[in-house]
Amino acid sequence: MENNQKIRFEDLNLSQEILRAIADMGFEEPSPIQAQAIPYILEGRDVIGQAQTGTGKTASFGIPILEMVDPTDNSLQAVVLCPTRELAIQVSEELRKLSKYKHSIKILPIYGGQPIDRQIKALKKGIQIIIGTPGRVMDHMNRRTLKMENVKMVILDEADEMLDMGFREDIETILEKVPTERQTTFFSATMPKAILDLTKRYQKNPELIKVVRKELTVPSIEQFYLEVKEKSKSEVLSRLIDMYNPKLSVVFCNTKKRVDELVGDLQGRGYFADGLHGDMKQSQRDNVMAKFRNGTVEILVATDVAARGLDIDDVEAVFNYDMPQDEEYYVHRIGRTGRAGKTGRAFTFIVGRDIYKLKDIQKYTKTKVKIHEIPSMSDVEEI
Ligand code: ADP
Ligand code: MG
Repeated sequence: MENNQKIRFEDLNLSQEILRAIADMGFEEPSPIQAQAIPYILEGRDVIGQAQTGTGKTASFGIPILEMVDPTDNSLQAVVLCPTRELAIQVSEELRKLSKYKHSIKILPIYGGQPIDRQIKALKKGIQIIIGTPGRVMDHMNRRTLKMENVKMVILDEADEMLDMGFREDIETILEKVPTERQTTFFSATMPKAILDLTKRYQKNPELIKVVRKELTVPSIEQFYLEVKEKSKSEVLSRLIDMYNPKLSVVFCNTKKRVDELVGDLQGRGYFADGLHGDMKQSQRDNVMAKFRNGTVEILVATDVAARGLDIDDVEAVFNYDMPQDEEYYVHRIGRTGRAGKTGRAFTFIVGRDIYKLKDIQKYTKTKVKIHEIPSMSDVEEI
């Protein structure tokens, strides 16, 4: 496919129903990963799609799945695996929007934490596409409430994250249970060896599509760092929030305990803040996310696990309250803002030796965006 020629959704052999839904969603043209992956997947080929966060990977597989599922057949035909519950919900919402004019296609997210009986009942209605976390999908397979016999497509979304989170065995078990006459697609921001091993074992002659440039997100994120003292972090955070007044912000901490502490601190200062981490009950997590989406909560304080892949419009600032563990986490975290061409700011707090990690991050992101030292740091931190 020519790189310099603009590809339109109309050129991709899509149905009227999908084209109308895409137009309703406000997508004007396919992102590079979409333009390249959709035709191969529609042809029935196995694909490995590598592109950074915020580049539109969901629709890259969502559109072809919706075109290829047989709406007259009520059996399970496509399985999407995602690393977290929030992501499963988010991907299924995007698929629902895309299927707006394909009324007979039924989509269900299945994830741990939600009562299994409710999911079993929903599955009995005849679901053609599930979006699930590996553990819960395994659970349903073992109970025979998910039947894999007619599954024709398996998609691993955020495959690198799933492996990092220890889902490798579950994923392999699931792939072993799906008939080999199937199409297998991997999407991932990075391609570590562990993924290449999986693709060798489970894909057939895959087409590797790699989009290096970050098309939808990173160019629109302004990145800053500030050297602060540990004890003045929350003060600096609140000053930055007052100064820039972002509509919604995500603040990353490295532990659950720090999330809880910071939420208490911010609430004490009168901010609409709430926390999200893996120790919370699913109902609490859903509740916080719903409030964040509707703006009742303006500052979401989260750990990496809880915030993986979240895609919420209007997140105008991301704060690395604690330094991310490595440069890939950094890119993931800041990718929560500046989604789909909107502008965003990312602030990273540096304490002591964090400065060395920042150097690695700058090396890693240098071709994309430079990270600026915040100009008026002394105005911000006075304690
Ligand atoms: P990724 O999975 O690569 O991180 P997403 O699929 O979550 O990215 O997409 C990021 C955002 O961009 C979403 O809000 C999505 O609706 C939007 N988006 C996807 N494709 C397009 C497009 N072609 N044009 C405009 N916005 C898009
Ligand atoms: Mg994604």
